[in-house]
Amino acid sequence: MEISILGERVEIQESPRARHLRVIVEVDGKVRAVMPVGYSGRKLAAFFEEKRRWIEKKVLYFQKRKHKIHIKSSRADFLRLKKSALELAISRLEHFNQFYNFQYKKVSIRNQKTRWGSASRKGNLQFNYKIALLPPEHRDYIIVHELCHLGEFNHSRNFWALVAKQIPNWRELRKTLS
Ligand SMILES: [Zn+2]
Repeated sequence: MEISILGERVEIQESPRARHLRVIVEVDGKVRAVMPVGYSGRKLAAFFEEKRRWIEKKVLYFQKRKHKIHIKSSRADFLRLKKSALELAISRLEHFNQFYNFQYKKVSIRNQKTRWGSASRKGNLQFNYKIALLPPEHRDYIIVHELCHLGEFNHSRNFWALVAKQIPNWRELRKTLS
């Protein structure tokens, strides 16, 4: 029996431990069906016919997010990582600011759900502690992004041109950070 969703073959497994049919959409968009031993192929096909649209929607959702970086946040991680996040932020700011030469004041680390960083008009910079868990390229992009807000307090063309001077592939890096 073969079933596909959006052109990708569904992996079908029989499991002696399964009591019902289970359909799983993995985070990479792969679909698996786990069914009890001897489960009827007709019932399986009917299930996929009925739920096809719902499954496709889920697959598309995960496919779209596939290249995004996700880091779960927790209070314990924040406490554990905030010091190294601060050290990293300071040293990379010093590095990039040799080029930009902006004036910044306080650098702090926060535990935020949705933001990677922010810059205030007063010149204070804040970063999410999760920068400590990012690949260096992504981390540098975030640091340069906030640093450049001290020159351009907006997301104008000028702002991105400023970012691009040190991070030419900012577009690609930005896309993977949600
Ligand atoms: Zn910004």
